[in-house]
Amino acid sequence: MIIKQEKEILSPKNNKIQLFKTESSFAEPHSTVLFIGVFHGDEPDGEFLINNLITDIEKNPDLTGNNRILFIPCLNPDGKQEKTRENSNGVDLNRNFPTKNRIESDEKNEFYPGKTAASEIETRFIMEIVDEYKPDRILTIHSPYKIINYDGPADEISEKMSKLNGYPVQVDIGYPTPGSFGTYAGKERKIPVITLELPENSDPEDLWVENKKALYYFLNTNLNMAGNS
Ligand SMILES: [Zn+2]
Repeated sequence: MIIKQEKEILSPKNNKIQLFKTESSFAEPHSTVLFIGVFHGDEPDGEFLINNLITDIEKNPDLTGNNRILFIPCLNPDGKQEKTRENSNGVDLNRNFPTKNRIESDEKNEFYPGKTAASEIETRFIMEIVDEYKPDRILTIHSPYKIINYDGPADEISEKMSKLNGYPVQVDIGYPTPGSFGTYAGKERKIPVITLELPENSDPEDLWVENKKALYYFLNTNLNMAGNS
């Protein structure tokens, strides 16, 4: 399996934001699956897990389950560099999507939603990818709650993943998330969106071992669901 860089943009601080895609020989993939890591710069473990998926799948193409797979290992490289939740404009990318429940706020805290919806290049990058590739399901990786949260029609997938990684499914994360990606893609576009919340202060290798089966279940879930095209 060859996994190639499909797109690349530069962040405001000139860091690369990359989209990788599987180059499949089969004409009709079962479905299109998107993985996104590091929405928040101070939650870097998603990049490690997604890079492990890429390496694993390159070695063993059967793991794709004939799905087309899109990977964005790190959406917020500027935040990662500075170890901040927000991007280099001080915007929480997970509050910057143009959703119906967006709340305008000038308060420059770690949840600052940006001057306008989709003001950030990182946000627009994701929106374009969702439009162009029409993923059938999306997994984003955050921390630190050690739960599986979801938006859109993803309750069954979440329950199965929970059995595989031992993290509880929590539908309500406990606080409002206006302008979040889950609201944008899951609630408003009905794409199943899983938010995998990793625990804090874990060895990334342990997180990989702990989550590998759940990640592959998510990737191949169409094979287990009757009637899914
Ligand atoms: Zn997060």
